[in-house]
Amino acid sequence: MADFNTHIFTATAVGAVYATVATKGLSIPTAPALLLAAATAVGGILPDIDLKASTPSRALFLVLGAMIAILGMLQHVPRFSVLELLALGAILFVVVRFLLRALFHKFTVHRGSLHSLAASLMFGVGTAVLCHRYWQQDADISWLVGTGVMLGCLTHLILDEIYSVDFTGARVKRSFGSALKVIDTARWPGSAAVIAVTIVGLWMAPPVSAFVKRLQTIDPNWQSWFLALDF
Ligand SMILES: [Zn+2]
Repeated sequence: MADFNTHIFTATAVGAVYATVATKGLSIPTAPALLLAAATAVGGILPDIDLKASTPSRALFLVLGAMIAILGMLQHVPRFSVLELLALGAILFVVVRFLLRALFHKFTVHRGSLHSLAASLMFGVGTAVLCHRYWQQDADISWLVGTGVMLGCLTHLILDEIYSVDFTGARVKRSFGSALKVIDTARWPGSAAVIAVTIVGLWMAPPVSAFVKRLQTIDPNWQSWFLALDF
């Protein structure tokens, strides 16, 4: 499999291209375009989130813990004193960063249900829901950000598959075929959970029609995206 640096570098490069094409072809403003690039980069490490003691897992639960602690503190500002708020923030952080992470790794297997195309779809749909419901982004932008996460995940899975071919000896390693799978047929309980979360996500997600409408505004003169300079 490819290492963390290769994943983050490739996904960031793919994200830069995606954001540029979206800015040019769909006239996306700069701020959301940056979000598209960042989402693709995060998507590039998400499938390895279930790898215990890995950088993706540490980073995700650190950020998640900090976000939940801050949100929890902000919600209770009128009721609690500063000291109480700090204590609440610390407790929430420890619960998410250590307890939730330990629980998560107890129930996940590396390269299991989350290392699949089905999980990539789940991550993308989940991102669209978060963007729309909690960050108040428009439906079309939310779906574009979700697509960025899916693109990042797909880049990750393809990279892992490429790395399972030993080019020097031109032979295929045993891990070939285990990275880029539609769904994890070896672990159905996990895969069923992935499908269930995706269905609930699709039900909560913003309307896809807004996304399709946005895609229809694509500039048909695509050559002009690449050759905008008049010589
Ligand atoms: Zn991987």
